[in-house]
Amino acid sequence: MKKAAHWMILIALVVSAVLAVILKSVSGKLEPESSGFQFIIGFIDIARFVGEIFIRSLKMIIVPLIITSVVAGISTLRGVEGFARLGAKTVGFYTLSTTLAILVGLLLVNTIAPGLENGQPSVVIQEAFSSEASANGEKFSSKIAMASDNSERSGFDLIKNLFRQMFPPNVIEAASNNGQMLGLITFSILLALAITKLPEKQGDHLSLSFTALNEAVIMITQWIMKVAPIGVFALILPVVYESGGELFLKLGKYFLTVLAALALHLFVVLPALLFFMARVNPLDHFRAMRVALLTAFSTASSSATLPLTMRGIQENAGVSKRVSSFTIPLGATVNMDGTALYECVAVIFVAQVMGVELSLAAQFGIVVAALLTSVGVAGIPSASLVAIMLILKSSNIPGAEAAFVALLAVDRPLDMCRTAVNVFGDSCAASVVAKSEGEKLYQNT
Ligand code: ASP
Repeated sequence: MKKAAHWMILIALVVSAVLAVILKSVSGKLEPESSGFQFIIGFIDIARFVGEIFIRSLKMIIVPLIITSVVAGISTLRGVEGFARLGAKTVGFYTLSTTLAILVGLLLVNTIAPGLENGQPSVVIQEAFSSEASANGEKFSSKIAMASDNSERSGFDLIKNLFRQMFPPNVIEAASNNGQMLGLITFSILLALAITKLPEKQGDHLSLSFTALNEAVIMITQWIMKVAPIGVFALILPVVYESGGELFLKLGKYFLTVLAALALHLFVVLPALLFFMARVNPLDHFRAMRVALLTAFSTASSSATLPLTMRGIQENAGVSKRVSSFTIPLGATVNMDGTALYECVAVIFVAQVMGVELSLAAQFGIVVAALLTSVGVAGIPSASLVAIMLILKSSNIPGAEAAFVALLAVDRPLDMCRTAVNVFGDSCAASVVAKSEGEKLYQNT
């Protein structure tokens, strides 16, 4: 079962997508009142519900997993120095890989120019934006309002907010929000460091207990993974059934630009970093992370994927708990290569469509904003759109709200892809840091 897990998930994914296309074409020929049509809608609804339960169970173990793995991992680090070194290396790698991702996005969006048509702002896309906004603006009004509120913030506000999240006034409250894991991570790190300072007997006792608890939580992950093919099937079915339509076609060039940039980062840049910085064969690494990648793709949430990322990096890649328990939860929260790349492409695309010429300085501002906001974006579906609205508004690019509605309407497939890139980036960081700490990887593969 263990070896075949990724095949089962992949098969579920493909079968589900094919079935959704068939159901869509069948339902297109049926009258909405007919029993056949109602049956299909009912079936899709059940799938949506089953998918929801699958994601909820993955999310259920995030908080216990973060607390137990961070405490168990770091309390073995022997003191603050080891931890500070690990922290500096991890954050250094995150900054490097995210910056490279943004540059890849910048390069492709400028060369392909998906928002232009024969060198001019695309009228077709402008019209698509405004018709989508008038048709669906109402539906997304609460999301627009929320994104608009956030967009009032400056870069400095963002950094202040990040620090606020790092030091929550109430750790239980922070733990109750899966989008704000940063506070929980800080608390767990402090607890772990305190445990290393306790008298030996007490410290060992606590550390062992957290390790045992961590093993138990990992066991729950394994149980949930047994039903992953069903979960993935149920998640993909409604997504494919509901996608499609004209807007997708009109934004086709934009889609291709985002996908090409994500692919370049996933298949060239990150493997190169892995190879040159950790001497790791990228194919081995892809193999180690395949279940996590498929789950990230199906759920579009790096937070929900966290248990699988952790499992892949520890069990398959052989990264120690000491390194992975810190790099992986932190990465799922702050390191988002795919998201940063996407933000940059989306903002420049909208600027092209709206006919705004961006100076080099303005583009640099967008790069910095994408880097900062990707840190603050939560690991949940469509989270980056809020950041996109913020950058559009702070760069004075007109049409931010209409673009927001249109991008939200077609977001899911791109979200699935960028989430997989986000998760892969975290796993590369763990391997590179582990190697630099003298660990031997891939002993079991
Ligand atoms: N869905 C992404 C993630 O969970 C975040 C985003 O880009 O919207 O990593």
